[in-house]
Order: sequence, then C-alpha cells, then structure tokens
Amino acid sequence: MDFELKILGSSSAIPAPHRYHTAQVLTVGGHLHLIDCGEGTQHQLMRYKIKPHRILNIFISHLHGDHFFGLFGLLSTMHLQARTTPLNLFGPPGLAELLTLQFKVSHTHLTFQISFHEIDPTVHKRIFEDKTMTVHTLPMEHRVPCCGFLFREKPKLRHLVKEKLPAFLTPPQLVRLKFGEDIRDEHGQILVNNADVTTDPKRSRSYAFCSDTKYKEDILPYIKGVDLLYHEATFLHELVDRATYTHHSTALQAATLAKKAGVKRLLLGHFSARYKDLTPLLEEAKSVFANTMLATEGKTIGVLEYDFKETELA
Ligand SMILES: [Zn+2]
Ligand SMILES: [Zn+2]
Repeated sequence: MDFELKILGSSSAIPAPHRYHTAQVLTVGGHLHLIDCGEGTQHQLMRYKIKPHRILNIFISHLHGDHFFGLFGLLSTMHLQARTTPLNLFGPPGLAELLTLQFKVSHTHLTFQISFHEIDPTVHKRIFEDKTMTVHTLPMEHRVPCCGFLFREKPKLRHLVKEKLPAFLTPPQLVRLKFGEDIRDEHGQILVNNADVTTDPKRSRSYAFCSDTKYKEDILPYIKGVDLLYHEATFLHELVDRATYTHHSTALQAATLAKKAGVKRLLLGHFSARYKDLTPLLEEAKSVFANTMLATEGKTIGVLEYDFKETELA
C-alpha cells in the first residue's frame, strides 16, 4: 500500500522566486490528504498532475496566510469543476466563519458539501480515522493557535502461512488468526497456536507534520520513532534569537528534536525568503541528524512498508 508525501510548497511568510507557501499532499492507500494550503497550492496541484477532486480531507495548521490563503481559490475551483464528493476540512477556530463569509459575499453556492471540523490546537487528540489510518493533533507553540498533525497507519493483520494451516480451520477461524488470536476447542484448550501458523504483519507507518512552532520538546512522546518528521526550519541557528522572538525554529533545533525523538528521517521546510541557497540549512541540520532532507517543491517521499537499514536511505 502506498504511503507517500508530495511537497507543493516550502516557503515561509513571504514567498521566494520558485518557492511556494506551505502545502503537502499525503497519499495513504490511494486516499489523498492535503496538509496546509498556502497561496498557489492549486497551481502546484496542476503542475504535479494531482486532481483536486481526489482530495478527501484538508488539514489546516493555523490561520497565518502562508498556510491557508490558497484555500478559497482551491475550493472555488472544486466548485467550478462541479465536485460532488463531500470534503472534510479540519482547522482552528475561525476558519469556518472566514470561508462562509467569502462564499456568502461572492454568492458562491458550492456543488459539494464541506464538513467543518474545528480542532483544538492546544491538545493531542485524535481528529480523524478511516479504515487504514488515524490523525492526531500535535500542539505547537506559535504566535497564533497552531497545531501539527500525526498521521499513523492502523495496525495491520498478521500473515497466514498457508503450508502450516490445518485443513479443518473455518473461514471465521482464519480471520481470528489474522487478528492474532489462538484457536481453541470448546474446553479452552489450544488447537492452533497463532505463532505457529502466522508471521508478523507489515509495520504501520507514520508521518508527523510539525507546522510553525518554537522549539518544543514536550511533543517528543507523540513523535517518538516516526518514519518521517517534517519540521519547520525557518532560520539558521545564527538567527536563533529571531526564531525565538517570532515563534519559529532553526534548522539545528529541528534536527535536535528529530534526534531526541529517534525518528527515521527528517524533512526541513518553511524557509525564510532570505535564504536563496538552502544548502547551509541542510548542512546545519545534518551536523546533528544525518538523515535530513529539504522539503523542496516537487519532492516525493515514499515510506516503505518493510523495515530498512539506514544505509539504504538515499
Ligand atoms: Zn508560516
Ligand atoms: Zn505562522
């Protein structure tokens, strides 16, 4: 099953040439989830041939323009394309009111239904689940209410080893084996030991999106060991005072958090327009956490289902 992230934008407050505001598409099991929707997101979707009607859920981290100014345009395009599929929109308080006013004054009567889900950015809480995954909020510390999102696949079923399965097992019993149960007779005696006839399921993958925030260690328990961590890195550490003052992070701080959380890979983004060359940000982070990449426009990052050694990472 796919578990893939596409980067649409990597720029902080003021866009830089060839850099768009924050937006990412996470595909899990064929379902598309849009994370933040800065200005230009719909153009980026077109550029990378991602059809807006395939997006089922939109998660907005906070109401700074560089994270949601593209939303009204994208929703209008979905309307003009006569979308009928309902859309879930997760965001902080105020987002529903803001969009409703825009639709009202522009006399837009959408062809599809939007379900607004107001989130509390101050808590770690499950806000969404479907058959394959869950989404939890990650409280950030920023100048306005802001949260990140933790996407985690649900535990998968165990594999049956066909050659080892006794012929007498019924279909319901096979299902119970997949869920990890032993098969017992009417007296409670074990007939088939689960470990003898099944193997471990593929592992459940995870992605943590840490939006605009100060360096914040209290989220470590939530992001511990994730496969992929996106963390903002607006500045180099020489501007740590400015980062603290504006409630942002440095590349060094993002890498420190990645190391402390024991994540597999780190993605840096939300770069200040002052950095024309992003190499120094990457190098600064790599000095602390080697498996670091830049979340630049057009990059696709797949998370594999099987465990891999760090040396396999390209
Ligand atoms: Zn921002
Ligand atoms: Zn912000």
